[in-house]
Amino acid sequence: MAGSAGAAPLIGVLALQGGFDAHQRRLARLGADSRRVRTGRDLEELDGLILPGGESTTMSLGIEREGLADPLRDLARAGVPVLGTCAGLIMLDRDHLDLMDLRAQRNAFGTQLESFEADLALEGVEGAPLHAVFIRAPWIAEYGPDVRVLAAMDGHPVAARQGDLLAVAFHPELSDDDRVHRLLLDAIAARRDGGGPDPDRDRAERAQA
Ligand code: GLN
Repeated sequence: MAGSAGAAPLIGVLALQGGFDAHQRRLARLGADSRRVRTGRDLEELDGLILPGGESTTMSLGIEREGLADPLRDLARAGVPVLGTCAGLIMLDRDHLDLMDLRAQRNAFGTQLESFEADLALEGVEGAPLHAVFIRAPWIAEYGPDVRVLAAMDGHPVAARQGDLLAVAFHPELSDDDRVHRLLLDAIAARRDGGGPDPDRDRAERAQA
């Protein structure tokens, strides 16, 4: 945990390639601190992580070049909430970081020319449908029993959750709607309020045992 209770959470945004800037601006608007992640050291003390959209092959090569695959896996497996958007969803799948039990189909909705916007009902998000921007978006072609599908488009899953790992095929940082980023911040807050590991509390409990 980066700070004590009440401090702004610190979210890392993978910044090897792709749309990390817009995510950082959105986090700032929501009162969260953010840090660009380019090396393993940038992962220290993060409360949450965003894997942005971009180009999945380039991003994947960058992760390999920087030796980031294992540190990213360790962070997520330690329970730090993660949001993957578009190419970031692809990074979470079985063929890449293998953090979510799903397989993404790249460019599933077509090529660059076939980018589109749609209103989407997202489970766990209250109120009006979410305005979602899809850019050469993937969809989720297969998923295992631990994955909960949160939204579908034309019958294909485009948003899913597995514990505190969230994946969306669209770009929530590009629409004027904070609710997907809020899901990440809510997961971080829930973990801080007692769900996840807390070194201070764990030490205190050991002392009492
Ligand atoms: N289709 C792209 C890819 O496979 C992802 C597009 C995006 O992130 N906007 O890399």
